[in-house]
Amino acid sequence: MTKITVAKGDGIGPEIMDATLEIIKAAGAKIEIDEIEVGEKVYLAGNTAGIAAESWDIIRRNKIFLKAPITTPQGGGYKSLNVTTRKFLGLYSNVRPCMSLHPFIKTKHPIMDIVIVRENEEDLYAGIEHQQTDEVVQCLKLISRPGCEKIVRYAFEYAKQQNRKKVTCFTKDNIMKQSDGLFHQVFDEIAKEYPEIENEHWIIDIGAAKMADTPEAFDVIVMPNLYGDVLSDVAAQITGSVGLAGSANIGEECSMFEAIHGSAPRRAGQNLANPSGLLQGAIMMLNHIGQTEVAEKVQNAWLKTIEEGIHTYDIYKEGVSKQKVGTKEFAQAVIANLGNKPAILKSVSYANNSSLNLPKYKRRPAAKKDLVGVDVFVHWGSLDPNELAEKVKKIETANVKLSMITNRGIKVWPDGFKETFCTDHWRCRFKPTEGTEINKAGIIELLQNAINENIDTIKTENLYSFDGKAAYSLGQGQ
Ligand code: NAD
Repeated sequence: MTKITVAKGDGIGPEIMDATLEIIKAAGAKIEIDEIEVGEKVYLAGNTAGIAAESWDIIRRNKIFLKAPITTPQGGGYKSLNVTTRKFLGLYSNVRPCMSLHPFIKTKHPIMDIVIVRENEEDLYAGIEHQQTDEVVQCLKLISRPGCEKIVRYAFEYAKQQNRKKVTCFTKDNIMKQSDGLFHQVFDEIAKEYPEIENEHWIIDIGAAKMADTPEAFDVIVMPNLYGDVLSDVAAQITGSVGLAGSANIGEECSMFEAIHGSAPRRAGQNLANPSGLLQGAIMMLNHIGQTEVAEKVQNAWLKTIEEGIHTYDIYKEGVSKQKVGTKEFAQAVIANLGNKPAILKSVSYANNSSLNLPKYKRRPAAKKDLVGVDVFVHWGSLDPNELAEKVKKIETANVKLSMITNRGIKVWPDGFKETFCTDHWRCRFKPTEGTEINKAGIIELLQNAINENIDTIKTENLYSFDGKAAYSLGQGQ
């Protein structure tokens, strides 16, 4: 018996959760349920996190969380409970299988069976944003080596367990050479440990286009958080309906299972919603807790029901479907099929499908880190870079000199183009002269000089080399 935390959520949540639990219990799932309240009611009672402190205790104690979709009220500073849960519990891996069920569910892509493995904790979702000048705001994109190693290893271990042939990586490292570059580099390093699995890398733009057009060319795809968020919805939708896909959020200790869709409030309380997405989440949960036989039985019964043409409104198509049913009737049809296997769709076998045991992340020894310069960011309203260079040169120290100014990343001094559009947000790069060094006191001296010259510095970024290798981007055009 495994104790799990269950939240029935909002909108269609309670109906699809009741249907899901009824099916898995009928299939023999050995689970004991601890129910908690999350979502709209909790938000509207004044808790901006959408969850009470006691509920966190229950989730952390049970470690396994099956969650129905919740409604996040618009405005009012309400925080997304999904993002908070993933980060608080360290659920670094988001796994979303997206499979076509042709010819029983209408899709433009009859041969499609891909799994998107999305990094779940970092990237632009660190949510660290600042306005620095009248015209410019920034959002920090944080990519870490542990984050990359954990998710890429998860993708390869998942592929190995599921007998999948290829892992593809999507990044935009032709532009983001440091951040996406690290993700790609780690992918190449870890891929070498799995010679039996094919690996490839695509630049995300053409990769996404290819996936939407020819999904049969892909198998497992691993990617950073934002790309994975967008592309997993695309992938689910092109199999026929977002209502069909489930997702697993896996961490080293805890995990959360859900449907990928939201609470569809307009469909609530009418016995209309398709419980399949949450059921797929629950099947991943059963595999994760080692109840693989039950998971297999439920999945085969579900495939058989889809094959029989017993469909909820969202996937019902005249001529393809046989019977339009509500949430409850769909659940009863799946229960009636427990023990059956699909005849045309491929039945599943989950014999070796229990949770993946990944090694704990091992920190590497620290590299030799040297300060080699500093970028001083300046808020300055006039638009002539040459004028700014004259002004900023006044803050140079005996050995630390202005080497470049960029605006939104593009070099505008020296030798800028008059056509380049400039904002009020400038990066002034300072480097020590040949044969000399810069230290932190030198940076403070620069900043003190800037105060004396009435220059509005908004932030600094130190330039480092790691083991002798420059670890910062050049100015575009430099
Ligand atoms: P949604 O996914 O709830 O609904 C979009 C449309 O898809 C619905 O109108 C409905 O026609 C269809 N649909 C979705 N699930 C279905 C199902 N199981 N059966 C049949 N049809 C289904 O997206 P939305 O309308 O943008 O969001 C509604 C609310 O859900 C918002 O408050 C949003 O914040 C929240 N949301 C929650 C989660 C989550 O808890 N994981 C995820 C996404 C959105």
